[in-house]
Amino acid sequence: MTETNHLITFSQVEKWYGTFKVLNGIDLQVRKGERIVICGPSGSGKSTLIRCINGLESIQGGHIHVAGIDMTANKHNAEKIRQHVGMVFQQFNLFPHLTVLQNCTLAPIKTLGLSKAEAEATAMQFLGKVRIPDQAHKYPSQLSGGQQQRVAIARALCMKPEIMLFDEPTSALDPEMVKEVLDTMISLANDGITMLCVTHEMGFARSVADRVIFMADGNIVEQAAPDLFFDSPQHPKTRSFLGQIL
Ligand code: ADP
Ligand code: MG
Repeated sequence: MTETNHLITFSQVEKWYGTFKVLNGIDLQVRKGERIVICGPSGSGKSTLIRCINGLESIQGGHIHVAGIDMTANKHNAEKIRQHVGMVFQQFNLFPHLTVLQNCTLAPIKTLGLSKAEAEATAMQFLGKVRIPDQAHKYPSQLSGGQQQRVAIARALCMKPEIMLFDEPTSALDPEMVKEVLDTMISLANDGITMLCVTHEMGFARSVADRVIFMADGNIVEQAAPDLFFDSPQHPKTRSFLGQIL
C-alpha cells in the first residue's frame, strides 16, 4: 500500500524531552476507518504518540503526515491538521463557565465560521448521538463524570473530524460510568470514523479494535489484531504487561 492510502503516517519519529528520548524512531501507518487501541505501561510514550498526531507535541526527528499534510513542512501545518482531528482527554477538559451547548458550539462558530443556529443544530445532533440532549443547558459541574466525558466526545464531533483520538477516556471515571462512555465509543467505531484510543479496557479493544499496538520505552514493541494480540502475545514485555492487567 502506498503512503497516500494512509490517513496517518509516522516515519522514524523521534521525540525528546531534554536529554530523555520519549519516542524512539516510531513507524506507524493508519488506514482510513481503522480502529486502533494503544496500550502499554505508564510512561511508555502512549500519550506523547497520540498528541503528536494533532501537533500538540513537536518532534525532533522523522516525519508525520496526517490527512495528506506534512506536519513539519510548515509551521502552520499543525493547525491545518488539527482541523481534521478530534481529541478526548482523561480529564474531560470542558470549559466550566460555559453550558454544554456552548462548549459544543464555541469552536465551530469561531473556527469553522458556522452561524450560531447552524452550530447549535449540529451540537444538538451530536448531543443526541451521545444520548444527553436533555443536558444541553446545564453546566459541566452539574453533570456526572460519564456525562461530562460524553459531552467532550460530542464537542469533538461537532468539528466533523476525520480522526478521533482518545487518551485514557475512562480512567478518571467511577466504575459505574465506564460502560456508558465505552458504549458511546463503540457506537462511533461502528460509524466508521478513524479512531486511535489509548486504553487498558481490553474488552473494548477485543470488540472494536482492528489492531492493538503495545508500546514500551518509547517503542512500538508489538502490534496485532486483538485476538492474536491477547491470545498469543509474542514479546516478553507484552506478556508481562498483559499478565498484570488481565
Ligand atoms: P504514557 O502516556 O505512556 O504514560 P507519556 O507519553 O505521558 O507516557 O510519557 C512518556 C515519558 O515522557 C514519561 O517518562 C514521562 O515522564 C515523560 N514526559 C511526558 N511529558 C513530559 C514533559 N512535558 N516533560 C518531560 N518529560 C515528560
Ligand atoms: Mg498517558
